[in-house]
Amino acid sequence: MFLAGSVQALDVGFGEVDITPKLGGKEKVWLAGYGTGREAAGIHDPLMARCVVLQDGGTRIALVSVDLVGLQFPAVKKIRSQLPGFSYVLVSSTHNHEGPDVIGMWGRNQYSYGVNDAYVEEVTDRCVNLVKDTAVAMVEDVNVSYGTAEDASLLRDTRQPAALDAVLRVLVFSGKSGKKIGLLVQWNSHPEAMGSQNKLITADFPWATVGALKRKYQCPVAYFTGTVGGLMAPPAGPTTFAYTEKHGIQVAGLAARAVEAARPLKLTPMRAEARLLYLPVTNRLYRLGLSMGVLRRERFVSTGDPYRKGKLMSGKNSGEDMTIETEVACLQLGELSLAAIPGELYPELVYGKFQEPADPAADFPNAPLEPTIREILGERKWMLFGLSNDEVGYLIPKRQWDRRKPYAYGREKAQYGEANSCGPEAAMIVMKGFARCAVREGPIEKRRQGGKAPEGNPAE
Ligand SMILES: [Zn+2]
Repeated sequence: MFLAGSVQALDVGFGEVDITPKLGGKEKVWLAGYGTGREAAGIHDPLMARCVVLQDGGTRIALVSVDLVGLQFPAVKKIRSQLPGFSYVLVSSTHNHEGPDVIGMWGRNQYSYGVNDAYVEEVTDRCVNLVKDTAVAMVEDVNVSYGTAEDASLLRDTRQPAALDAVLRVLVFSGKSGKKIGLLVQWNSHPEAMGSQNKLITADFPWATVGALKRKYQCPVAYFTGTVGGLMAPPAGPTTFAYTEKHGIQVAGLAARAVEAARPLKLTPMRAEARLLYLPVTNRLYRLGLSMGVLRRERFVSTGDPYRKGKLMSGKNSGEDMTIETEVACLQLGELSLAAIPGELYPELVYGKFQEPADPAADFPNAPLEPTIREILGERKWMLFGLSNDEVGYLIPKRQWDRRKPYAYGREKAQYGEANSCGPEAAMIVMKGFARCAVREGPIEKRRQGGKAPEGNPAE
C-alpha cells in the first residue's frame, strides 16, 4: 500500500508504427467518414499508431492512438488479450475521415461491408507489437508537466446550439537533464480538413500537427482526439493539402503555447477503473446495419440494466431491445484524471454549458441533464480521449435530441448527429458509467466493504 504522499518514480516510453493499408491488392480500400463508395486512389502520408507506455512500479499502462475513423471494441479486446503484462491498455482513434473503413458502413454502397478484416487483423497485430516494443525501451524516472491553451478560432461548430471545447491539453515528459522525451497532445476536432472529395489516404491535419511538433521539440509526439461531438471540425477552407497542412501547423502552435504554460504534475500512483456498458441501440439505421452485417459486432438483448449483459441476439430474438457492449474508463494518474470515452462526446457534456432552456421543439426538452466531466472531476486536472477503445457514435445530450418534427431552431430538416448515435439514452449511460469509474475512493474498495453496488456518487 502507498503511504499518503509517497510518490513512485515514473518511467515512460514512446513508440510509433506505420498502419497504412496496402493499395492495389484484390480488395479495394474504402475511405471512411462521409458517404459510401469512396475508393482510395493513393497515399499522401502514412497512417500511424502511436503509443505511450507509463510505468510506476508494477503498474503498467499503455495509451495508443491510431489514425483511423474508430477502431471497434472487439478489435481492442483482441489487442489487450495479447498484452497480459499491462494493468490497462487504451486504444483511441483520432476519428480520421481520410483513412480506411474499420467499422463497415462506408463500403461500395450502403448495403455492403466496407472493412477489410485482414487489414484490421494487421492493425491489431501491429498495435500489440508496438506496445511490447515501446515497453522495452523506457526512460526511467522522468518528470512530467501538464499545460493547456485555448483557441476557439481553430474550430468550427457545425451544429446548433453553439458549444465548443477549444482547450488543447498536453503532457510534457522530460529527463533529468530537462531534455524532452516526448509530448502527449489532446485536441478536439474532426480530422476532416480534406473533406469528402479527397481520395488519397492521409491522417488529415494531425499529420501536420505531429510533424511540426516533432521538428520543433525533436522528440516523439502522440496525438489523441478528445471531444468532437456537437460538431467540432476545422474552420471551413479549401479542401487541399496546403490548407490542411496550414491548419495542422496552427494546431501545433496552440500545442506549443500549452507546452510553454505547462507546470509540473505527478502522474503516480496510477490506477485504472473501467466498466463494461450495454448501450441500447434504438437508431434504426444502426439496427438495420447490424442485422444485415454491414456493421459486424455482437448484439445483446437488453436487460434494462446498462451494466448487465443480456442474451446474445440472433435471428430469433432480433425483434427485442438491442444493446451493444462497450467500455468507459477513468484512469487516475496521480494528480491527473484521464477520461476514456467510447465515442464522440458533445462539448456540453464536458463543461456543462447546456442551452437553458432547451429548444422547446426538441424531442425531450425537459429530460434530466447528464452529469458532466467538470462536475464529476471537480478541480482535478484532466485529459479526455474520445473514441477510446470503441466508436459508438455521437453521445448527445438528451435535451438536444431532435428526430421528430417540429425541429428545433425553426429548421425545416433535422440537424446532423442523431443519425450517427445509438440513441437518446447513450450519453446518460456513458456519463453515469464514467462517474462510477471516477469515484476516487474506488468503487472496488467500497463494494468489498459493503458488499453492495457503489453509491455516493454526487452526480447521480
Ligand atoms: Zn464524427
